[in-house]
Amino acid sequence: MPSKIIIIGAGVVGAASALALQKDGHDVILVDREAPCAGASFGNAGAIVNGSCAPTAMPGIIFDAIRMLSKSNSPLTVHPAYFHRILPWLMRFILQSSSSNVNNNAKHLHGLSQYAVASWHQLTEQTELSSLFKQTGWLKVYETEKSFDGTKKSRQLLDKMKTPYEVLDASQIHDLEPNLAPIYKRGFFQKDSLSITNPDRLVKGMVELFVNRGGSYKQFAVNRINRNSNGIELIGSNETLVTDKVVIAAGAWSRSLAKQLGDNIPLDTERGYHLMLSESTSSLLSRPVVSGDDSFVLTPMETGMRMSAQIEFAGLDIAPDYSKIRKLLPEAKRMLPKIDIKEESVWMGFRPSLPDSLPALGFSPKSNNVLFAFGHQHLGMTLAAITGLTVADLVANRKPPIALSPYRPNRFLTL
Ligand SMILES: Cc1cc2nc3c(=O)[nH]c(=O)nc-3n(C[C@H](O)[C@H](O)[C@H](O)COP(=O)(O)OP(=O)(O)OC[C@H]3O[C@@H](n4cnc5c(N)ncnc54)[C@H](O)[C@@H]3O)c2cc1C
Repeated sequence: MPSKIIIIGAGVVGAASALALQKDGHDVILVDREAPCAGASFGNAGAIVNGSCAPTAMPGIIFDAIRMLSKSNSPLTVHPAYFHRILPWLMRFILQSSSSNVNNNAKHLHGLSQYAVASWHQLTEQTELSSLFKQTGWLKVYETEKSFDGTKKSRQLLDKMKTPYEVLDASQIHDLEPNLAPIYKRGFFQKDSLSITNPDRLVKGMVELFVNRGGSYKQFAVNRINRNSNGIELIGSNETLVTDKVVIAAGAWSRSLAKQLGDNIPLDTERGYHLMLSESTSSLLSRPVVSGDDSFVLTPMETGMRMSAQIEFAGLDIAPDYSKIRKLLPEAKRMLPKIDIKEESVWMGFRPSLPDSLPALGFSPKSNNVLFAFGHQHLGMTLAAITGLTVADLVANRKPPIALSPYRPNRFLTL
């Protein structure tokens, strides 16, 4: 039976959920405190990595983290003022790096990501949005055999999940990307992945499509959320919205909304940065390329070349430190000698992350009127379409293509 459903958050996950629920005939309102695509969905590296399965917490993560923290351009930082706040999350995260947890998390990440490309096709077929996806593949390059060997565990997980990839030598890398400096000995290529030429245009286009098909978009900041006999109440500064069902897709800000409904979910944020280089440099690459040694991505986009990097634990309120991404400019030049490293703009965004790298996807344990769809960490663009389709399956009481218990919001023990 059609319901009145409000989705909180017009990032990629909320927008995908809105399109999928609308298709089932529900009366859907999408709300965001800002214009659509104001969060992490705006500034990412734009990769749809089909079959991706390596969780962030891998075996040996503590030693890797110590090694990274000691580098001058560390790809990982913990803000000293946030250390005590992130500590419980880090403890859970480290527990996830045991072999058995890594194997489970990889299996369940793959459970969703195996549908990444197919679900995006399903959601955007016969719309102009499909032109924003390019079949470029996803390329990672390494300067030494030793650094390439560091990917052994991830490759074993891909093998286990039967996700196809190719290992490349220097000349095969050159054939794919002739403008890269000839410093890369090894590459690792997932051919069937896609890239998005403009994530902002994609998400805004999804919201526009939803509105053109009769859906409502409302700029509305949810200050408080309550469940009572009328349904779910969303309280804003001047208005209260009442609905039968709510989908919480507010990215890194979802934790406090879930908590107000009685669900304590250990969501935190891994902040990331990007720096845009001029549009003329975009033609130097044909696809997103990851520097495996220096942990950054260069993605050619229609707005310019985007360099993205960093995992920073600093919560939602501490000011960005753009020096973290600016420091990588000489490395970008080393990777791509013809690049003009004049900065056009910088940005920081909040990856919504749970310690096991899996999203919270399912009904609140407290109510079938509250659905959670957040925590997509480094893979929200990849997983948004399958998440939206799954949200619609849950509301319709249809069997989704995968068992959802691994993503249940209450899977974490209370610490
Ligand atoms: C540097 C970087 C690179 C990345 N690269 C990739 C990549 O290549 N591939 C990939 O798959 N993923 C990538 N990601 C991850 C991806 O961007 C995120 O996982 C994804 O965008 C999360 O989408 P979301 O819709 O859950 O959250 P968001 O896009 O953050 O949207 C949440 C929305 O909720 C709104 N909101 C919050 N609270 C409220 C409230 N109280 N009331 C109303 N509205 C509210 C916000 O305004 C925001 O618009 C990257 C992330 C970063 C930071």
